[in-house]
Amino acid sequence: MNPATHFLASWTLANAADLTFRDRALITLCGVVPDVDGLGIIVELATAGSTAPLNWYSRYHHVLCHNIGFGLLLALVILIFSVRRWTALLLAMSAFHFHLFCDLIGSRGPDGYQWPIPYLWPFSRQWQLAWQGQWAFNAWPNIVFTFVLLLVVLYLAWKRGRSPLEMISKKADAALTVKLKAKCGP
Ligand SMILES: [Zn+2]
Repeated sequence: MNPATHFLASWTLANAADLTFRDRALITLCGVVPDVDGLGIIVELATAGSTAPLNWYSRYHHVLCHNIGFGLLLALVILIFSVRRWTALLLAMSAFHFHLFCDLIGSRGPDGYQWPIPYLWPFSRQWQLAWQGQWAFNAWPNIVFTFVLLLVVLYLAWKRGRSPLEMISKKADAALTVKLKAKCGP
C-alpha cells in the first residue's frame, strides 16, 4: 500500500490510547518507516541506463525494513524514547505489523510481482510471505480503505481536537480542528 495510507492507519492506531504527542509520533513512524527501503528506486532509476546499474529497489524493497530484525530495532527505539513505554511498544509493533499485513494483501506490482516479505530476515530467509489473493497496489480496496481512514481521521480531529497534521504543522492542525468544530458542532 502507499505510504500515505500507512501513515493514516498508523496515526489512527496511535490514537487508540491516551498518549503524548511524542508517543503518537513514534508509533506513527513505526508504521511508515519500513518503506524507506523503497528509496533505492532513486538510485535504480538514475543508474538504469549505465554500464553498472544498481538495482537497489528491485533488490532491497520489502527486504531491508520489512522484517522482524527491523521490527526489533524499532522496538528498541520505542523503549528508549517513548513516555508510556509498554503501551507505546504494543501500539508501535501493531502499526509495524499492520504495515506488513497491508503490503501482503494489497501491494502487487503492475508486472504481477508480489514483493514477498522475508519476515524472519536477517535471522533466516526461510519465510517469504506472499498471499495468492493479493490485489494490486492501486486497486479499489486500497482506495476505499484510504477513504475510510480519512473519515476516521476527520472524526478524531473533530472529537479530540487533533489530526495527523500535528506531525507536520501544529498551526495547520489547530486550524483544521477549529474549522471542523465550527461546522459540525463542539
Ligand atoms: Zn511497505
